Amino acid sequence: MTVCDRLRPFGTTIFTEISRLAAEHRAINLAQGFPDFDGPEHVKQAAIEAVRAGHSQYARMAGTLELCRSVADYFSREAGLSFNPETDITVTAGCTEAIAAALLGLLNPGDEVILFEPYYDSYRASVALAGGVPRFVTLRGPGFEFDPAELSRAVSPRTRAVLVNTPHNPTGRVFTRGELQSIADLCLRHGLVAIVDEVYERLVYGGPSSHVRLASLPGMAERTLTLSSLGKTFSLTGWKIGWAVGPAELSSAVRAAHQFLTFAVSTPMQHAAAAALDSPPAYFDELVTSYRSKRDFLADSLRRIGFTFRDPEGSYFIYADHRPVSARLGLTTDVEMSKHLIERIGVAAIPPSVFYEDKAEGSKYLRFAFCKKDETLAAAVERLRSLA
Ligand code: GLN
Repeated sequence: MTVCDRLRPFGTTIFTEISRLAAEHRAINLAQGFPDFDGPEHVKQAAIEAVRAGHSQYARMAGTLELCRSVADYFSREAGLSFNPETDITVTAGCTEAIAAALLGLLNPGDEVILFEPYYDSYRASVALAGGVPRFVTLRGPGFEFDPAELSRAVSPRTRAVLVNTPHNPTGRVFTRGELQSIADLCLRHGLVAIVDEVYERLVYGGPSSHVRLASLPGMAERTLTLSSLGKTFSLTGWKIGWAVGPAELSSAVRAAHQFLTFAVSTPMQHAAAAALDSPPAYFDELVTSYRSKRDFLADSLRRIGFTFRDPEGSYFIYADHRPVSARLGLTTDVEMSKHLIERIGVAAIPPSVFYEDKAEGSKYLRFAFCKKDETLAAAVERLRSLA
């Protein structure tokens, strides 16, 4: 009754809901995507030193210049793209704030935004908060590619932006250069802004496609906001440090909203975030090696039980068709299957139909997170084996 019309349809986010159920039933949580291990010592040490040094007052509204410079250097090293730390980078409270600030800063009421479904749930809620209208393009299994003709059909004279997430949550896909080029062509043809969520940018396991930044395609740096964060790359999801990177004009829209959402983000953590981004290449290599082995273990185990899926090329999720397993139990939907797993088996996974306009499409799948200690994954698999 008290929640406004814009937000009432979204209820409580599925991540909170399932984590609560997992705790209630003492289920192993392979649902919400957060590591059950700690972030790197050198980054924690940098945070402790920043607190001790008294970096305790409001930071610059758009982010400490030190962190903005580190983000700019990171982009120039990783993508060969050059950004001005003063005007082109905005530090936000995690990527989730960057998404909201970008949409709130860019959309007028009635402006349309193209979303690929399944989508991270905050996208749709943030479009609604901004008074925008979502248009959907479906990624369909087993490969979760999109149909470029469907993408073209989603454009209307009211389209303002397309929101892309690669590597993709929840499917684990990494969009190919060809797919990104077709999105770029569309943006250039219709004058659209691209908003790209790249939080899983470093979690790529070497499939057919390596991670390509949409902003690096010809003509796109001028019209792309790239969003990312510390959380996934440094196993620090609770620090909530993210950033939006794009030309001054687009960044000024992000800042217009950010200044009234959070104004500025935790100062000492920004100091530590700068240290994180300056980590040596070996740090990133070890992260990928460790996640690849977790992915392989969980993928192999889930397949033996009967789930079907292609190995994720990126992210820390396995997006599995549960129907061969749920059919044996007389269950049909993702919600039924997730409930059964939590209550009877003691393992939590995300039922993803909430990530779709077309609920029936999402009802076939469950999302399992493998950002967990090896022993957590082993214990979960031990429980899941009873389904085989
Ligand atoms: N991004 C994380 C996931 O997909 C969770 C984010 C959240 O809990 N808000 O699991």
